[in-house]
Amino acid sequence: MMLDPQADLGRRAWLPCVFCGSNAPLYLLHCEVNLVWVQCRKCLHRWWHDTGVGHPRDPQQLFDAARFEWLTSGPGSTSALPGPL
Ligand SMILES: [Zn+2]
Repeated sequence: MMLDPQADLGRRAWLPCVFCGSNAPLYLLHCEVNLVWVQCRKCLHRWWHDTGVGHPRDPQQLFDAARFEWLTSGPGSTSALPGPL
């Protein structure tokens, strides 16, 4: 595996590597809402890390979240959201 051309020591993510367990800062290559594309400096593995913040982009997840809200707030609170399956 090669070092990503986007790897820049100025942009780092302080996360442990999920592949080799290295505690050295990871290269932060790209980020998308709640996901960051990181590369380990030691083993050069790359992966998407979910930071758990922000809103998921997957439409199915948005639908599930809307339905969950509908279920927890009870029917009748809004008619615009989908009902339970
Ligand atoms: Zn690693």
